[in-house]
Amino acid sequence: MQANENFRDTIGTLDDEGKRKWVFPKKPSGTLYKYRKWVSYFLLVFLFAAPFIKVNGNQFLLFDVLERKFNIFGFPFWPQDFYLFVISMIIGVVFITLFTVAFGRIFCGWICPQTIFMEMVFRRIEYAIEGDRGKQIRLEKMPWNKEKITKRGLKWSIFFIISFLIANVFLAYFIGGDELLKFIAEGPFENVSTLISLLIFTGVFYFIFAWFREQVCIIACPYGRLQGVLLDNKSIVVAYDHKRGEAEHGRKLFRKGEDRKEKGYGDCIDCFQCVNVCPTGIDIRNGTQLECVNCTACIDECDSIMEKVDLPKGLIRFASEDEIVKKEKFKFTPRLKGYAAVLFILMGVLTGMLFLRNDVQANVLRLPGQLYDTTQNDLISNVYTYKIINKTSIDIDSVQFKLLSHTGSIALVGHQDLSIPAQGLSKGTLFIEINPSALEGEKERVKIGIYSNNELIETTTTTFLGPRSYN
Ligand code: SF4
Ligand code: SF4
Repeated sequence: MQANENFRDTIGTLDDEGKRKWVFPKKPSGTLYKYRKWVSYFLLVFLFAAPFIKVNGNQFLLFDVLERKFNIFGFPFWPQDFYLFVISMIIGVVFITLFTVAFGRIFCGWICPQTIFMEMVFRRIEYAIEGDRGKQIRLEKMPWNKEKITKRGLKWSIFFIISFLIANVFLAYFIGGDELLKFIAEGPFENVSTLISLLIFTGVFYFIFAWFREQVCIIACPYGRLQGVLLDNKSIVVAYDHKRGEAEHGRKLFRKGEDRKEKGYGDCIDCFQCVNVCPTGIDIRNGTQLECVNCTACIDECDSIMEKVDLPKGLIRFASEDEIVKKEKFKFTPRLKGYAAVLFILMGVLTGMLFLRNDVQANVLRLPGQLYDTTQNDLISNVYTYKIINKTSIDIDSVQFKLLSHTGSIALVGHQDLSIPAQGLSKGTLFIEINPSALEGEKERVKIGIYSNNELIETTTTTFLGPRSYN
């Protein structure tokens, strides 16, 4: 480890005066970068397509907060299904915790949309226009001449267009893909308020990807902050093998033909390429740090250096501290077992609840403050409000209510042929009439069946009030 421990008191992207140090990372290359590209292509296609994919007529992913409609993987969730949402969230948190304890922050470098957009879209446009690290630094130092104005102008214009595209897709997740396409077909001036929200979102994305960049991961993201409590010596992270890299007498610049082992020098040739390629501007040789998003660019870079100097690859690699120091292999620790057990139980609960969840949900509630009535035929009558939610993507026709627990009848107010629209609800008032001889107490639970085309689709219960003397 380095004797200079300053990196522990500051973050890599701030200078001594606390001002932002702009990071000009070297363009990554190598095997892991190639895999990362494929993962990111898949995720980008998924991110852009998900609001426009339909499963059984439902948008694949939808988070319509205003209309209170949520679809996850094509499953519609209503506010009444909020408990399922909460369990899904808890599962997500436990899964990420388990994953982080075992494999560190790999999610950040390989899956997080912030990194995917930053490193695989915006940064690559930057490389295409401004060139690699050296050229970018030169351009930055240049006065505002024709070259700089043209390159920066082009880059910022493309950044703006992509930010606008991302804002559109982002909006499709909230208002629905069909709604967005309708707005686009109608033109921006027909939907000025939507256009304003789009421009605000565009501004936010532009700010993040053109200026704020790695600061999101370093100072804004709460997940990054959790690393300190989640990681331990057994967690597999992007790590520098300090035992091998430093050996007895530390790092030393490479000299051809020199026997480094004999002289006690480590395998690190102090070329700084792992630092130059790092998108968060840190030196991984200082150990695991808050800023490291586990993007693995430094692994590729160091491997290519090791190849060039004919030393074994893997000086920087995925490894735990215990593997480096004690040569211990990955173990399924009691902590991991505990998290896995909780995850397993929660997933079982969620699966069970998903299977038990009905596509139709009915509520029948007695009108507050109303007592029972006696009809002309000496029947006891109670008045109720009902609400039926259709969670499916098809209309439900010819809906009827039938009393299942007692002999009696149910009459809807104002509806002869009730139907519930797809993804919609129907509500109104109904009367339940029961012959007093069928009642055993002054307050009874009655069971109601809801039928569509004479097929039972849901049952519900409610209370029925009768006179005290019928016992
Ligand atoms: S790239 Fe490898 S050899 Fe070069 S400084 Fe980093 S760890 Fe040392
Ligand atoms: S230290 Fe390596 S893995 Fe971590 S962010 Fe920098 S380049 Fe990526």
